[in-house]
Amino acid sequence: MNTKEIADVFDKNVMPTYAPGMALVKGQGTKVWDAEGVEYLDFLAGISVLNVGHSHPKIVKAICDQAAQLMHVSNLYYTEPQARLAAKLNSVALDGKCFFGNSGAEANEGLIKLARLWGHDEGRYEIICMKNSFHGRTLATAAATGQSKIQKGFEPMPEGFVHAEYNNLDSVKALVGDKTVAILLEAVQGEGGIISADQEFMTGVRALCDEKNLLMLCDEIQCGLGRTGKWFGFQHYGVEPDAFSLAKALGSGYPIGAVVSGDKLKNVFQPGKHASTFGGTPLACAAALSTLEVIDDEGLVENSASMGKKFKAGLQALADKYDQVEGVRGVGLMLGLEMKGPAGDTAKKIIESGLLCLATAETIVRFLPPLNITDDDVEKALTIIESCLK
Ligand SMILES: *Cc1c(COP(=O)(O)O)cnc(C)c1O
Repeated sequence: MNTKEIADVFDKNVMPTYAPGMALVKGQGTKVWDAEGVEYLDFLAGISVLNVGHSHPKIVKAICDQAAQLMHVSNLYYTEPQARLAAKLNSVALDGKCFFGNSGAEANEGLIKLARLWGHDEGRYEIICMKNSFHGRTLATAAATGQSKIQKGFEPMPEGFVHAEYNNLDSVKALVGDKTVAILLEAVQGEGGIISADQEFMTGVRALCDEKNLLMLCDEIQCGLGRTGKWFGFQHYGVEPDAFSLAKALGSGYPIGAVVSGDKLKNVFQPGKHASTFGGTPLACAAALSTLEVIDDEGLVENSASMGKKFKAGLQALADKYDQVEGVRGVGLMLGLEMKGPAGDTAKKIIESGLLCLATAETIVRFLPPLNITDDDVEKALTIIESCLK
């Protein structure tokens, strides 16, 4: 089918929640091809899902081997891939225990339920979230999200979420009350426009949580798994949350989400308290385990840091040279070009010139390339971006 044929059938049959423009039919490494065979350099990577690139041979093999061996059995049984994946995640951070679901929203729902259960006997359930954050599209995670456009039309929202100013510790302190149980935040706000937490803010939130006996919860769904040049975003600040959520890049495109907890929360969910039919199936866990192995074996956290520096310096040079660019934001390979006006037209031009990216938060052109990009990919991307700014 060509793009028009695909779009005709799609638009007639799929609810119009998205407004896709192009039809992609194949991906390999850092490249994708559309239905007409046009090649693109993919600097969006499924919005930070394809951290190891498209169809990495080791992940394809792990999925195929596991699919032939055992895809699903239900969580009534022990399975080796889930055991090994949890052990690997716990060895990378917090040294506690994991719960597996299927998406980012489900992982954040898990965090929310975990926090509520932990605070339940004291009647504490309220979670302080940040303005401009994004945590998902289920009712509870939309309520946690600090953007009214995500909530509009779905009111009344579930209660128990209040919103402080990001990077403003006083505004967080002002919201702490008898019912507060946790503080939830992203180390780098993704959908909010690639905004990093300040060092004092992260340190201050951790100290506040310790002082008031609150849980510090991090949403690492977009900024985790090497994206920012460290395994997890919070690791830039020398603080550890009590638990954090993962999804997006965890399965390299196979759906899987996780709640990763430290000591304080690791045994709060007891049998019957939380569950998910597909959570942590052998197939999903095999995909995730091989993803973590590839990130390790190929040094992708380090590559994200070094390529990120190079790409950011190149973007900064463009910002200095071209009047319509305000500046550059982000860390590692989670970068945004801040335009002086709306970013939509610039992003469209860049995509039409062969580089996939995404306009976000009105004025930001967002880049989230695979973490295994090379010098050559960075050069190519910068050339395309510059040709569109000229
Ligand atoms: C994408 C995202 C989510 C939601 O994940 P889904 O898999 O779409 O439910 C939550 N939080 C952050 C920070 C995200 O980037």
